[in-house]
Amino acid sequence: MSWYIDSSVIVKSDGNKDWWKNEYGPSESVPVSGIYRCLGCKREVTSNAADRFPPQNHHQHTVDQGKIRWKLNVRTATDGD
Ligand SMILES: [Zn+2]
Repeated sequence: MSWYIDSSVIVKSDGNKDWWKNEYGPSESVPVSGIYRCLGCKREVTSNAADRFPPQNHHQHTVDQGKIRWKLNVRTATDGD
């Protein structure tokens, strides 16, 4: 979960782009800069476009949490508006 305050500037997206829908595994290429959430354990990371997601050994899951799968939670406007 990401937090914000009253003065935070957040705009709702329609979510139609693939980067909102796809899930990404460890060390895969990051499609857009933002805050990504692991669907298994709810941990979040900030990752920059064209970098790679954290490697498999970044954190450990229980069997019930399944594989590490990163999903975009908040996209950052690295180019300004
Ligand atoms: Zn996790």
